[in-house]
Amino acid sequence: MRQSQLFTKTRREAPSDEVSKNAQLLIRAGFVHKEMAGVYDLLPLGLRTFNKVVGIIREEMNAIGGQELHLSALQDPAVWQKTDRWDDKKVDSWFKTELKTGGALGLGFTHEEPLTNLMREQVSSWRDLPTYPYQFQTKFRNETRAKSGLMRTREFVMKDLYSFSTNSTQHVEFYAKAADAYKKIFERAGLGGKTYMTFASGGSFSKYSHEFQTECEAGEDIIYIDDASKMAVNKEVYDDPEVYKTTGINKATLREAKAIEVGNIFTLGTRFSDALGLTYKNKEGTDTPVFMGSYGIGPARLMATVAELLSDAKGLVWPASVAPFDVHLVELSGGNEDVKKEAEEVYRELTAAGVEVLFDDRDARAGEKFADSDLMGIPLRVVVSQKTLAEGKFECVERHGGHTTHKTLSELITDLPRGKAGLSHV
Ligand code: ATP
Ligand code: MG
Repeated sequence: MRQSQLFTKTRREAPSDEVSKNAQLLIRAGFVHKEMAGVYDLLPLGLRTFNKVVGIIREEMNAIGGQELHLSALQDPAVWQKTDRWDDKKVDSWFKTELKTGGALGLGFTHEEPLTNLMREQVSSWRDLPTYPYQFQTKFRNETRAKSGLMRTREFVMKDLYSFSTNSTQHVEFYAKAADAYKKIFERAGLGGKTYMTFASGGSFSKYSHEFQTECEAGEDIIYIDDASKMAVNKEVYDDPEVYKTTGINKATLREAKAIEVGNIFTLGTRFSDALGLTYKNKEGTDTPVFMGSYGIGPARLMATVAELLSDAKGLVWPASVAPFDVHLVELSGGNEDVKKEAEEVYRELTAAGVEVLFDDRDARAGEKFADSDLMGIPLRVVVSQKTLAEGKFECVERHGGHTTHKTLSELITDLPRGKAGLSHV
């Protein structure tokens, strides 16, 4: 893409009402626009990164048997009344609205109820199980705190997968696979080293749920990390030592840290299938409640966590896997036609080789181009100038760490990691 045609502008200053670092950087770099407190728009660069995150999650969910669908945001109160989650006293984050013809509707904050209800038409026998539908879909939550930028918003896309199993044994097998898939996702997105599978409180069907917590100063949670096992317990579990003994984590070496929950996995058991009547006939022909689990990740929260953790004083620093482009090609022609021609040629060749390139073809000063490039955080900057033209090699600067090399076009093409052009979006 030509930067001269990118309609978003970088900003030197973050808006004065924006206190969170991730939002400040993403706004300054032109990735997002703040609509109001807790509500953000994704601009072209932001959407590209968001879609890369979505693509990674989708690949890992498909790899463990997930089947993608898309449920509605508008919710029928009747279904939620059956599980006693319609009442504002039971769920404080509802956004509700009215039909013109009379009657209330909800804007879904999660989707256990409608999906369990829907599955009653699809599941009848043990042969129909297990099954793992999932979606990337917008949730609405009337969050009281909205000070963490894109980490906590009132409207956000969630990847939510739900497992429907015959019994707890079948469920536990999938739960372990899902945990592994989550580890791969956070690893691939660049957060592996700082993300801990964390014991959190469970529910009636399991002592624990598991959160995936990324150590981060801006995080809203407190966790206790066991560095040896790379596991952690969250504060609610830690505060009840009787409980956390059974996690198998060593109490003695735990270290306290602030963290952000980037994902979680939860055993639901038959809480929803009992309330909504989702049963299957087992091999003996007996009606049996389906055993469920739920598995959530917020792609924009994940993107914000990467922005928060992997940035530096100059701006964003994206890992190649979620960067909006693979290469930031910067032309410094100073009006020289040969340099311009050369830069056009490099753009054409890189693009033809499947490399995703943002081509800074603007008529601007070098300082401005470099500052913008640092702010946007594309992993590799390739500079075409009179100097590089004379050398026959281009200057290649890694955004992370600043390592600089000089390469010919063919060396560059061979060495580059390719982004996943065309990873489909939500
Ligand atoms: P938290 O404890 O941070 O409030 P939660 O426990 O309510 O989150 P879930 O309802 O299980 O989270 O949602 C699953 C995932 O969706 C979370 O792990 C997180 O990645 C993401 N998520 C939750 N709430 C938000 C939000 N307000 N804004 C952005 N992402 C969110
Ligand atoms: Mg939570």
